[in-house]
Amino acid sequence: MTGAAPEGGISRVALDVPLSRLFDYRVPPGTAAPVAGARVRVPFGRQHLIGVVIEHATDSSVAEERLKPLTALLDSVPVLSGEVLDLVRWASDYYHHPIGEVIASALPKALRAGATLTALEELWRPTGTGRTALETGMLARLPAQRRVLELLLRHDCLHEDDLSAQVPHWRTAAKALLRQGWVQHESVAAAPAAPTPEWVAAAAAPVATPEQAAAVAHIGAALGGYATFVLHGLTGSGKTEVYLRIIEQVLERGQRALVLVPEIGLTPQLVRRFAQRLNAPLAVLHSGLTDTERLDAWRAAASGAARIIVGTRSAVFAPVPQLGVIIVDEEHDASLKQHEGGFHYSARDLALVRAQRAQLPVILGSATPSLETLQNVVAGRYQRLSGPRRAGPAAAPRLGLVDLRAHAVSAGLSTPVVQAIERHLAAEGQVLVFLNRRGYAPTLLCTACGWVAPCKECDARLTVHQRSQRLRCHHCGADAPLPQNCPQCGFEVRPVGQGTERVEERLLELFPHAPIVRVDRDVVRGRGDMDAAMHSIDSGAARILVGTQMITKGHDFQNMTLVVVLNADQGLFSTDFRAAERLAQTIVQVAGRAGRGSRAGEVLIQTAYPEHPLLQTLMSEGYDGFARAALAERAAAAWPPFSRLAVVRASALTAEAALEFLTEARRLAAAPRAVKLLGPVPAAMARRAGRYHAQLLLESADRAALHRLLGGWLPRVAELPVARRVRWALDVDPIDLF
Ligand code: ADP
Ligand code: ZN
Repeated sequence: MTGAAPEGGISRVALDVPLSRLFDYRVPPGTAAPVAGARVRVPFGRQHLIGVVIEHATDSSVAEERLKPLTALLDSVPVLSGEVLDLVRWASDYYHHPIGEVIASALPKALRAGATLTALEELWRPTGTGRTALETGMLARLPAQRRVLELLLRHDCLHEDDLSAQVPHWRTAAKALLRQGWVQHESVAAAPAAPTPEWVAAAAAPVATPEQAAAVAHIGAALGGYATFVLHGLTGSGKTEVYLRIIEQVLERGQRALVLVPEIGLTPQLVRRFAQRLNAPLAVLHSGLTDTERLDAWRAAASGAARIIVGTRSAVFAPVPQLGVIIVDEEHDASLKQHEGGFHYSARDLALVRAQRAQLPVILGSATPSLETLQNVVAGRYQRLSGPRRAGPAAAPRLGLVDLRAHAVSAGLSTPVVQAIERHLAAEGQVLVFLNRRGYAPTLLCTACGWVAPCKECDARLTVHQRSQRLRCHHCGADAPLPQNCPQCGFEVRPVGQGTERVEERLLELFPHAPIVRVDRDVVRGRGDMDAAMHSIDSGAARILVGTQMITKGHDFQNMTLVVVLNADQGLFSTDFRAAERLAQTIVQVAGRAGRGSRAGEVLIQTAYPEHPLLQTLMSEGYDGFARAALAERAAAAWPPFSRLAVVRASALTAEAALEFLTEARRLAAAPRAVKLLGPVPAAMARRAGRYHAQLLLESADRAALHRLLGGWLPRVAELPVARRVRWALDVDPIDLF
């Protein structure tokens, strides 16, 4: 719509309430209708809410006398740009989620509460009558007011911060002056600013490898239109170097770049790299920010002051004028698909939608691309760029399987592994031991009566935490003192199995002279802890690193020559059809930590099933071979990406209530033949934190048929009387089926 905004009419407003509809409000006469994407304040029941205008209309299905007027217009410039609003609407449709809640997960809290989109500066000025008042001595007995007015007269205009710096308690005085009409106060838009990270003496760009040069040429030629590139290369192979060169080109075109990373933990390194090479203002958006920091970053992005936006999941909704490229780093990572409140979405998939609609290229980077992405390459929808080979002299590490059945094992460490660690330490290498389980032991067992410490709230065992002498549930957080004796028979109890804490203890016994650092959520709580741990490895102060998933990503270890995966078997026999993919990704990612400097690396994977086809294919043909085999299996079983899934999950205080809700929901579904309904079934771990979980799966090879069914069905499910007794949510394209 162009020209003057129409007066009057109806605004259709999205509100942060769990209802899948818009709400109509009358635009008061004489007021210009708010533009789409602008915030308004509206009456809702007995309260006032801030909502976002989605569209303007001339009439409403709500009866004239029941139609309430908007009470305030908050924005002249929309908080949601056309591009973002479009994405939000698409997401609300596709994920069948109320648009108001989608907007709530996109917008920073401060903006939802009414903060201005542009930062404001508070300015104070003297008035003519103020000058007269001062000159005629009317302020003789009011020293604070006199001081403020004198200052203002001297400077003509002062910022609040300057007043604060010069006159303590100036505000009381200024307010008194304002009441007299002796000063004026105004809020003006501050010049938008984004921090330019300290430009670390501009690291010079290395000479690009042929693969990097080819990738950059390919992507560079596609700028200005939609295309998806898969940059498949090992960690440390120079993908970031490709991102840097593309961002450089984008900046030169006067455009901006959006970079999505799966975790907050990965942003500082990337920001540092960008800062070393690109002298451009940058905004960082992730969940670790305070509300004010988040608001500042969003403002910097929206104003265009920031030229590069780096963020986690919800940054896919960031406003970025003249966006030129979207980069999704570690595109396979599950953290890109998560839920905010009840809203489940894939930031990677939304990035693709955004790019398609805004006509710009996307780069999906990963050492282990998801099977979905690889299938899109096979189908010709994405272009795969021949993975940069590892920059630097180190070749890919040697991989080997260690048969846990054939060797003595102590605290999870087999004899060949212990010998390998010894060898690498003797050769001045560093060693990484990966185990995806924190704590000392996953089970506390009574050797006399067989009692096992259970969680009272979950279908799970409590994990032993030896150092803190606690028993903890890793699912609900339950926490209890560690008993010395069996509560059932009084006999001695014993920790069984191992977590990182126990492995660390055993390694200390075996290698007393090799300092160890452990990285898991029990010891690494904040950024500082992680930095300290990484520094002790980089500096060589520590020789062995023991850790969970936390160590599989990001950090570049130069002298890590041996990587041990203590247990590969958890992923081999899972009920989740994605477990094998996850396992292969983890193994490849963790193996990528070995041999990154000038030395070749060795990777040992312990398993009780060395003949397992997945492990065999991975060993002999690498990730690509594994992916081919896994995709063939998925095709045969009609799992994604060869079919589409949606799952309705429900939880209730009893298993019956959760199952009853899903059973009734299923009964309501008039499923066409193209859509299969499976279940309801109790979740694999049915009881969690005192609630019973169950799910109903919908599967179809025909995406449109599935979505048509969902669209007609979900509103009726929401109206089921039993729905009030459960918590439930829909997850489209779920990645966890548990
Ligand atoms: P990735 O993003 O795939 O993990 P990086 O881009 O971070 O890889 O590169 C890994 C390391 O190799 C970095 O230290 C980087 O500076 C260096 N590097 C990347 N490309 C080159 C190159 N063409 N020549 C020399 N060193 C390079
Ligand atoms: Zn629990």
